[in-house]
Amino acid sequence: MSETALSNINFHALAQPLHDWYLLKKRQLPWRDNRAAYRIWISEIMLQQTTVQAVIPYFERFIIRFPDLQTLANSDIEEVLQLWSGLGYYSRARNLHKAAQLFVENGGIPSTFQELLKYPGLGDYTSRAISSIAFDEKVGVLDGNVIRILTRLLNYQQEWWKTEHKKYLQGVADSLNQFEFPSSEINQALMELGATVCLPQSPLCNQCPWSDNCLAQSQKSISEVPLKRKKTPNQIWYWQPEIYTQKNQVLLEKNTKLPFLKNQWLLPGKCSKQEDRPQNYDLKHFITHYNIYVKIKRHESAKALRLYSNQQWFDIDEIKHVNPSSLLSKCFSNSAAKSK
Ligand code: SF4
Repeated sequence: MSETALSNINFHALAQPLHDWYLLKKRQLPWRDNRAAYRIWISEIMLQQTTVQAVIPYFERFIIRFPDLQTLANSDIEEVLQLWSGLGYYSRARNLHKAAQLFVENGGIPSTFQELLKYPGLGDYTSRAISSIAFDEKVGVLDGNVIRILTRLLNYQQEWWKTEHKKYLQGVADSLNQFEFPSSEINQALMELGATVCLPQSPLCNQCPWSDNCLAQSQKSISEVPLKRKKTPNQIWYWQPEIYTQKNQVLLEKNTKLPFLKNQWLLPGKCSKQEDRPQNYDLKHFITHYNIYVKIKRHESAKALRLYSNQQWFDIDEIKHVNPSSLLSKCFSNSAAKSK
Protein backbone atom coordinates (compact mmCIF):
# COMPACT_ATOMS: atom_id res chain seq x y z
CA MET A 1 0.00 0.00 0.00
CA SER A 2 1.56 3.31 -1.03
CA GLU A 3 1.73 6.34 1.22
CA THR A 4 -1.14 8.80 1.23
CA ALA A 5 0.36 12.29 0.99
CA LEU A 6 -0.07 14.06 4.34
CA SER A 7 -1.73 16.96 2.55
CA ASN A 8 -4.51 14.61 1.40
CA ILE A 9 -5.46 13.52 4.92
CA ASN A 10 -8.14 15.46 6.79
CA PHE A 11 -6.37 15.57 10.16
CA HIS A 12 -8.92 17.83 11.82
CA ALA A 13 -11.64 15.26 11.11
CA LEU A 14 -9.46 12.68 12.86
CA ALA A 15 -8.33 14.84 15.80
CA GLN A 16 -11.87 15.93 16.76
CA PRO A 17 -13.37 12.46 17.52
CA LEU A 18 -10.10 11.30 19.11
CA HIS A 19 -10.15 14.28 21.47
CA ASP A 20 -13.86 13.87 22.33
CA TRP A 21 -13.31 10.18 23.03
CA TYR A 22 -10.37 10.86 25.34
CA LEU A 23 -12.29 13.38 27.45
CA LEU A 24 -15.02 10.79 27.98
CA LYS A 25 -12.95 7.65 28.38
CA LYS A 26 -9.61 8.56 29.93
CA ARG A 27 -8.54 6.55 32.95
CA GLN A 28 -7.68 8.25 36.21
CA LEU A 29 -3.94 7.81 36.65
CA PRO A 30 -1.80 9.36 39.39
CA TRP A 31 0.29 11.43 36.95
CA ARG A 32 -2.86 12.82 35.34
CA ASP A 33 -4.05 14.62 38.53
CA ASN A 34 -1.32 17.19 38.24
CA ARG A 35 0.62 18.02 35.07
CA ALA A 36 3.76 19.35 36.78
CA ALA A 37 6.67 18.66 34.42
CA TYR A 38 8.53 16.85 37.21
CA ARG A 39 5.73 14.30 37.67
CA ILE A 40 5.24 13.83 33.92
CA TRP A 41 8.96 13.26 33.46
CA ILE A 42 9.13 10.64 36.25
CA SER A 43 6.04 8.84 34.93
CA GLU A 44 7.31 8.77 31.34
CA ILE A 45 10.67 7.32 32.38
CA MET A 46 8.97 4.66 34.52
CA LEU A 47 6.55 3.80 31.71
CA GLN A 48 9.37 2.95 29.29
CA GLN A 49 9.18 -0.84 28.79
CA THR A 50 6.76 -1.14 31.74
CA THR A 51 2.97 -1.35 31.97
CA VAL A 52 0.78 1.33 33.57
CA GLN A 53 -0.46 -1.07 36.26
CA ALA A 54 3.08 -2.03 37.26
CA VAL A 55 4.21 1.61 37.36
CA ILE A 56 1.42 3.07 39.57
CA PRO A 57 2.70 1.87 43.00
CA TYR A 58 6.29 2.73 42.11
CA PHE A 59 5.29 6.21 40.95
CA GLU A 60 3.32 6.88 44.12
CA ARG A 61 6.15 5.75 46.42
CA PHE A 62 8.72 7.69 44.41
CA ILE A 63 6.75 10.95 44.54
CA ILE A 64 6.26 10.64 48.30
CA ARG A 65 10.00 10.18 48.86
CA PHE A 66 11.17 12.62 46.14
CA PRO A 67 8.36 15.16 45.81
CA ASP A 68 10.31 17.62 43.66
CA LEU A 69 13.32 18.04 41.41
CA GLN A 70 15.52 19.55 44.09
CA THR A 71 14.93 16.67 46.51
CA LEU A 72 15.73 14.12 43.80
CA ALA A 73 18.86 15.98 42.66
CA ASN A 74 20.16 16.13 46.26
CA SER A 75 19.42 12.48 46.98
CA ASP A 76 21.80 9.58 47.05
CA ILE A 77 21.72 7.41 43.88
CA GLU A 78 21.56 4.31 46.06
CA GLU A 79 18.28 5.41 47.56
CA VAL A 80 16.89 6.08 44.06
CA LEU A 81 17.97 2.59 42.95
CA GLN A 82 16.39 1.08 46.03
CA LEU A 83 13.01 2.66 45.23
CA TRP A 84 13.44 1.51 41.63
CA SER A 85 14.23 -2.06 42.64
CA GLY A 86 11.81 -4.42 40.85
CA LEU A 87 11.04 -2.06 37.94
CA GLY A 88 14.10 -3.28 35.98
CA TYR A 89 16.18 -1.42 33.38
CA TYR A 90 18.18 0.31 36.11
CA SER A 91 20.03 2.58 33.72
CA ARG A 92 16.73 4.54 33.67
CA ALA A 93 17.11 5.31 37.38
CA ARG A 94 20.76 6.31 37.00
CA ASN A 95 19.97 8.61 34.08
CA LEU A 96 17.01 10.07 35.97
CA HIS A 97 19.26 11.00 38.86
CA LYS A 98 21.92 12.51 36.56
CA ALA A 99 19.28 14.45 34.60
CA ALA A 100 17.75 15.81 37.85
CA GLN A 101 21.12 17.30 38.81
CA LEU A 102 21.56 18.84 35.35
CA PHE A 103 18.01 20.25 35.33
CA VAL A 104 18.69 21.94 38.69
CA GLU A 105 22.01 23.33 37.43
CA ASN A 106 20.28 24.70 34.30
CA GLY A 107 17.25 26.22 36.03
CA GLY A 108 14.59 23.51 35.65
CA ILE A 109 12.99 21.09 33.20
CA PRO A 110 13.00 22.56 29.66
CA SER A 111 9.67 23.02 27.88
CA THR A 112 10.65 21.98 24.35
CA PHE A 113 11.47 18.51 23.11
CA GLN A 114 14.60 19.74 21.32
CA GLU A 115 16.03 20.97 24.62
CA LEU A 116 14.91 17.89 26.55
CA LEU A 117 16.76 15.65 24.07
CA LYS A 118 20.07 16.96 25.44
CA TYR A 119 19.57 15.26 28.83
CA PRO A 120 20.44 11.70 29.90
CA GLY A 121 17.76 9.10 29.36
CA LEU A 122 15.62 11.31 27.14
CA GLY A 123 15.12 10.05 23.60
CA ASP A 124 12.80 11.34 20.93
CA TYR A 125 9.59 9.73 22.20
CA THR A 126 10.05 10.61 25.88
CA SER A 127 11.13 14.20 25.14
CA ARG A 128 8.08 14.74 22.94
CA ALA A 129 5.78 13.12 25.50
CA ILE A 130 7.07 15.39 28.29
CA SER A 131 7.02 18.63 26.30
CA SER A 132 3.53 17.98 24.92
CA ILE A 133 1.90 16.63 28.10
CA ALA A 134 3.48 19.08 30.55
CA PHE A 135 3.79 22.16 28.32
CA ASP A 136 1.35 21.52 25.44
CA GLU A 137 4.11 21.82 22.86
CA LYS A 138 2.48 21.01 19.52
CA VAL A 139 4.46 17.88 18.65
CA GLY A 140 3.34 14.31 18.08
CA VAL A 141 4.59 11.19 19.85
CA LEU A 142 5.48 7.90 18.20
CA ASP A 143 5.97 4.71 20.17
CA GLY A 144 4.92 1.09 19.57
CA ASN A 145 1.29 1.77 20.52
CA VAL A 146 0.99 4.85 18.32
CA ILE A 147 2.69 3.09 15.41
CA ARG A 148 0.14 0.28 15.69
CA ILE A 149 -2.82 2.67 15.63
CA LEU A 150 -1.56 4.88 12.81
CA THR A 151 -0.46 2.02 10.56
CA ARG A 152 -3.91 0.44 10.98
CA LEU A 153 -5.73 3.73 10.50
CA LEU A 154 -3.95 4.25 7.15
CA ASN A 155 -3.49 0.55 6.35
CA TYR A 156 0.18 1.47 6.09
CA GLN A 157 1.92 -1.74 5.02
CA GLN A 158 5.48 -0.45 5.03
CA GLU A 159 8.51 -1.45 7.09
CA TRP A 160 7.71 1.13 9.77
CA TRP A 161 11.08 0.63 11.55
CA LYS A 162 12.97 2.12 8.59
CA THR A 163 13.89 5.79 8.89
CA GLU A 164 11.88 7.07 5.92
CA HIS A 165 8.68 5.30 7.07
CA LYS A 166 9.11 6.37 10.67
CA LYS A 167 9.50 9.91 9.42
CA TYR A 168 6.21 9.63 7.58
CA LEU A 169 4.41 8.28 10.67
CA GLN A 170 5.99 11.01 12.80
CA GLY A 171 4.55 13.47 10.27
CA VAL A 172 1.09 11.92 10.79
CA ALA A 173 1.43 12.16 14.59
CA ASP A 174 2.63 15.78 14.35
CA SER A 175 -0.21 16.70 11.99
CA LEU A 176 -2.82 15.52 14.50
CA ASN A 177 -1.40 18.14 16.87
CA GLN A 178 -1.80 21.22 14.70
CA PHE A 179 -5.30 22.22 15.81
CA GLU A 180 -7.15 23.83 18.73
CA PHE A 181 -7.03 20.63 20.85
CA PRO A 182 -4.31 20.64 23.52
CA SER A 183 -1.38 18.40 22.61
CA SER A 184 -1.38 17.04 26.16
CA GLU A 185 -4.81 15.57 25.39
CA ILE A 186 -4.26 14.47 21.78
CA ASN A 187 -1.08 12.58 22.63
CA GLN A 188 -2.49 10.99 25.75
CA ALA A 189 -5.57 10.05 23.71
CA LEU A 190 -3.36 8.12 21.28
CA MET A 191 -1.52 6.42 24.15
CA GLU A 192 -4.85 5.55 25.78
CA LEU A 193 -6.34 4.26 22.54
CA GLY A 194 -3.34 1.95 22.04
CA ALA A 195 -3.50 0.69 25.63
CA THR A 196 -7.25 0.09 25.89
CA VAL A 197 -8.86 -0.23 22.42
CA CYS A 198 -6.48 -0.72 19.49
CA LEU A 199 -4.92 -3.76 21.17
CA PRO A 200 -2.24 -5.82 19.40
CA GLN A 201 -4.54 -8.85 19.22
CA SER A 202 -8.31 -8.48 18.82
CA PRO A 203 -8.69 -4.67 18.82
CA LEU A 204 -12.06 -3.39 20.08
CA CYS A 205 -12.96 -1.58 16.87
CA ASN A 206 -16.59 -1.03 17.87
CA GLN A 207 -15.33 1.20 20.74
CA CYS A 208 -12.85 3.13 18.60
CA PRO A 209 -13.36 6.80 17.74
CA TRP A 210 -11.79 6.07 14.35
CA SER A 211 -13.88 3.03 13.43
CA ASP A 212 -15.43 4.97 10.49
CA ASN A 213 -12.03 6.13 9.25
CA CYS A 214 -9.87 3.06 9.74
CA LEU A 215 -8.64 1.61 6.45
CA ALA A 216 -7.27 -1.61 7.95
CA GLN A 217 -10.69 -2.31 9.39
CA SER A 218 -12.60 -1.56 6.18
CA GLN A 219 -10.07 -3.47 4.08
CA LYS A 220 -10.00 -6.38 6.57
CA SER A 221 -6.23 -6.28 7.01
CA ILE A 222 -5.94 -5.56 10.73
CA SER A 223 -3.98 -8.76 11.35
CA GLU A 224 -1.41 -7.74 8.70
CA VAL A 225 -0.56 -4.27 10.05
CA PRO A 226 1.74 -3.14 11.47
CA LEU A 227 4.17 -5.37 9.56
CA LYS A 228 6.10 -7.68 11.86
CA ARG A 229 9.74 -7.07 12.34
CA LYS A 230 12.09 -10.07 12.42
CA LYS A 231 13.30 -10.81 15.94
CA THR A 232 16.99 -10.48 16.78
CA PRO A 233 18.25 -14.09 16.96
CA ASN A 234 19.15 -15.36 20.43
CA GLN A 235 22.84 -15.50 21.31
CA ILE A 236 24.39 -17.99 23.70
CA TRP A 237 27.08 -16.65 26.05
CA TYR A 238 29.19 -18.58 28.53
CA TRP A 239 30.21 -16.42 31.47
CA GLN A 240 32.69 -17.62 34.12
CA PRO A 241 32.57 -15.05 36.93
CA GLU A 242 35.05 -15.28 39.78
CA ILE A 243 34.06 -14.43 43.33
CA TYR A 244 36.81 -12.94 45.46
CA THR A 245 35.97 -11.81 48.98
CA GLN A 246 37.90 -10.18 51.79
CA LYS A 247 36.41 -9.34 55.17
CA ASN A 248 32.88 -8.24 54.32
CA GLN A 249 33.67 -7.14 50.77
CA VAL A 250 33.46 -8.57 47.27
CA LEU A 251 35.43 -7.62 44.18
CA LEU A 252 33.52 -6.18 41.21
CA GLU A 253 34.63 -4.93 37.82
CA LYS A 254 33.13 -2.21 35.64
CA ASN A 255 31.79 -4.11 32.63
CA THR A 256 33.14 -2.76 29.35
CA LYS A 257 33.52 -6.15 27.61
CA LEU A 258 30.29 -8.11 27.92
CA PRO A 259 27.45 -7.15 25.56
CA PHE A 260 24.82 -7.22 28.34
CA LEU A 261 24.66 -5.00 31.49
CA LYS A 262 27.19 -2.65 29.90
CA ASN A 263 29.01 -0.16 32.16
CA GLN A 264 27.61 -1.81 35.27
CA TRP A 265 29.56 -3.35 38.14
CA LEU A 266 29.78 -7.12 37.64
CA LEU A 267 31.93 -9.96 38.89
CA PRO A 268 35.22 -10.25 36.96
CA GLY A 269 35.63 -13.28 34.71
CA LYS A 270 35.87 -14.61 31.17
CA CYS A 271 32.94 -14.58 28.80
CA SER A 272 32.61 -16.02 25.32
CA LYS A 273 29.96 -16.42 22.67
CA GLN A 274 29.06 -20.05 21.93
CA GLU A 275 27.34 -21.92 19.15
CA ASP A 276 25.61 -24.37 21.50
CA ARG A 277 24.47 -24.48 25.08
CA PRO A 278 27.43 -25.43 27.31
CA GLN A 279 27.25 -28.74 29.19
CA ASN A 280 28.71 -27.52 32.44
CA TYR A 281 27.07 -24.54 34.09
CA ASP A 282 25.65 -23.48 37.47
CA LEU A 283 22.77 -21.28 36.37
CA LYS A 284 21.25 -19.64 33.34
CA HIS A 285 19.88 -16.14 32.95
CA PHE A 286 18.21 -14.40 30.00
CA ILE A 287 18.54 -10.69 29.21
CA THR A 288 16.66 -9.71 26.01
CA HIS A 289 18.21 -11.97 23.31
CA TYR A 290 21.25 -12.94 25.41
CA ASN A 291 21.01 -16.46 26.86
CA ILE A 292 23.71 -16.44 29.51
CA TYR A 293 25.06 -19.69 30.99
CA VAL A 294 27.05 -19.07 34.14
CA LYS A 295 29.81 -21.15 35.70
CA ILE A 296 30.96 -19.61 38.98
CA LYS A 297 34.38 -19.95 40.54
CA ARG A 298 34.73 -18.99 44.18
CA HIS A 299 38.21 -18.17 45.54
CA GLU A 300 39.04 -18.85 49.16
CA SER A 301 41.64 -16.10 49.32
CA ALA A 302 42.27 -12.77 47.58
CA LYS A 303 45.74 -12.31 49.05
CA ALA A 304 47.79 -12.65 45.84
CA LEU A 305 45.30 -10.67 43.78
CA ARG A 306 46.44 -7.56 41.85
CA LEU A 307 43.58 -5.18 41.11
CA TYR A 308 43.05 -3.66 37.66
CA SER A 309 42.01 -0.01 37.38
CA ASN A 310 38.41 -1.00 36.53
CA GLN A 311 38.05 -3.17 39.65
CA GLN A 312 36.93 -2.20 43.12
CA TRP A 313 35.95 -3.75 46.45
CA PHE A 314 32.34 -3.22 47.58
CA ASP A 315 30.65 -4.05 50.88
CA ILE A 316 28.50 -7.15 50.41
CA ASP A 317 25.45 -5.33 51.86
CA GLU A 318 25.93 -2.57 49.31
CA ILE A 319 25.88 -4.82 46.21
CA LYS A 320 22.16 -4.77 45.57
CA HIS A 321 22.31 -0.96 45.37
CA VAL A 322 25.49 -0.87 43.25
CA ASN A 323 23.98 -3.29 40.75
CA PRO A 324 20.41 -4.47 41.43
CA SER A 325 20.44 -6.88 38.44
CA SER A 326 19.08 -10.27 39.38
CA LEU A 327 21.98 -11.90 37.47
CA LEU A 328 24.39 -10.80 40.19
CA SER A 329 22.12 -11.81 43.06
CA LYS A 330 21.60 -15.24 41.42
CA CYS A 331 25.39 -15.73 41.27
CA PHE A 332 25.77 -14.97 44.99
CA SER A 333 22.86 -17.21 46.02
CA ASN A 334 24.16 -20.07 43.90
CA SER A 335 27.67 -19.74 45.25
CA ALA A 336 26.41 -19.50 48.87
CA ALA A 337 24.25 -22.62 48.39
CA LYS A 338 27.24 -24.59 47.02
CA SER A 339 29.55 -23.58 49.87
CA LYS A 340 27.12 -24.87 52.56
S1 SF4 B 1 -10.83 0.75 14.09
FE1 SF4 B 1 -9.86 -0.95 15.14
S2 SF4 B 1 -7.92 -1.31 14.09
FE2 SF4 B 1 -8.68 0.70 13.43
S3 SF4 B 1 -7.65 2.13 14.79
FE3 SF4 B 1 -9.62 1.64 15.72
S4 SF4 B 1 -9.25 -0.10 17.09
FE4 SF4 B 1 -7.48 0.11 15.75
